[in-house]
Amino acid sequence: MLNEKSCGALVYRKYHGNTEILLIKHINSGHWSFPKGHVENDETEVETAVREIKEETGIDVIIDQSFREIVTYSPRRDTHKEVVYFIAKAKNTDFTPQADEIADIKWVEIGRAGSVLSYDNDKSIVNKAKNFIP
Ligand code: ATP
Repeated sequence: MLNEKSCGALVYRKYHGNTEILLIKHINSGHWSFPKGHVENDETEVETAVREIKEETGIDVIIDQSFREIVTYSPRRDTHKEVVYFIAKAKNTDFTPQADEIADIKWVEIGRAGSVLSYDNDKSIVNKAKNFIP
């Protein structure tokens, strides 16, 4: 069994009084999820999340580590994957999708995110985050 670990965040902004979160569509598999990526070298979880969000979306964030939730799944046969998600406040809101990995990005009102996300384990994280996002 191989083990993989990625880190990312539910990136939020306020827009006309609503909370919106940033969702991304992967080019290869076509699923909608949150920005994240693999831990490199001796990075901390927060460093990975900040770097990957910037690479995938062009957005700089402030991470809130008081929210830390884990999603697990099997991306391939014989592989166990753990993804650590924080919440993060966007410092800028204009995104630039990473051309070779991201098919689409959008800001979605948090109450509608469940209807866009592809996987139930990601939908549960949004429900938990609703109580944390200020
Ligand atoms: P990373 O963004 O961490 O570098 P990746 O782009 O290599 O990851 P994943 O997003 O983990 O890949 O997707 C790999 C496979 O796992 C795809 O087939 C995808 O549909 C599936 N997958 C992604 N997220 C989930 C999930 N939350 N639950 C179940 N399966 C998932």
